[in-house]
Amino acid sequence: MERRFACTACGKCCFGWLPLTLDDALAHAGRFPLAVVWTPVKPASRAFATTARIGLTVRLADRKQVAVRIAPTAYLPPSMACPELKPDGLCAIHADKPSRCRTMPFFPYRAESDQADLLLPRSGWACEVGASAPVVYRDKAVVERGDFDREHEALLGQTPVLKAYGEALLGSVPGLPDALARAAAKPGGGHVALGFASLLRRLNPDNRNSHAEAQLTVLAAVSARVSDPDYARNYADWTWELERLLGR
Ligand code: SF4
Ligand code: SF4
Repeated sequence: MERRFACTACGKCCFGWLPLTLDDALAHAGRFPLAVVWTPVKPASRAFATTARIGLTVRLADRKQVAVRIAPTAYLPPSMACPELKPDGLCAIHADKPSRCRTMPFFPYRAESDQADLLLPRSGWACEVGASAPVVYRDKAVVERGDFDREHEALLGQTPVLKAYGEALLGSVPGLPDALARAAAKPGGGHVALGFASLLRRLNPDNRNSHAEAQLTVLAAVSARVSDPDYARNYADWTWELERLLGR
């Protein structure tokens, strides 16, 4: 089985959430409004084994086990464009864009053998998948694998940090285990989004304040443009948490 794919740079996939490696989140803290998104994945899911390897395994109150993907994420409503998307559909930071954007549409949060459906463009996307596009996936393996391998290695490398963060929060944030259980029970899957300060305060203190200051500026800018009340409320809460982190 072969799949062909080429990006025509239409910019249509540059909207809404963008999961980031930890290094990319910190490097772009002055560009994207960041959250830490926890996504429970059930054992029956094809993504369970990979999620358990790069994230956490949690036993919920009902004794059911889930794997939890913990992803620093550029957190924008689905209708809102990435702040770096230019009017002509091109990326303003092409040479410096996050590894997630380089690996698209492959997604190393899932097994390499389970990527074929990701190469089918969604409605409105102008990806080229016909005979003129190169073969990018053959026999359940990525053909040009540099970007895929780099993102995958980054996810594996950051696992100890995110695992320690996840275990610490599950033991200290009242209501988080129940929120995860509710997210796991949602048809189609749910998530829990926490402010980036929850992670920032547990990282090496070098540059912590500058990352927090950068986030405050980004959150102020995006709050002025957002109309979705849930996102507006989250941005306000996360601004308050960052102010607390900075001792204000
Ligand atoms: S950084 Fe560039 S490629 Fe990535 S989502 Fe934003 S505009 Fe698109
Ligand atoms: S939707 Fe497809 S063609 Fe458009 S920017 Fe994204 S990957 Fe490229």
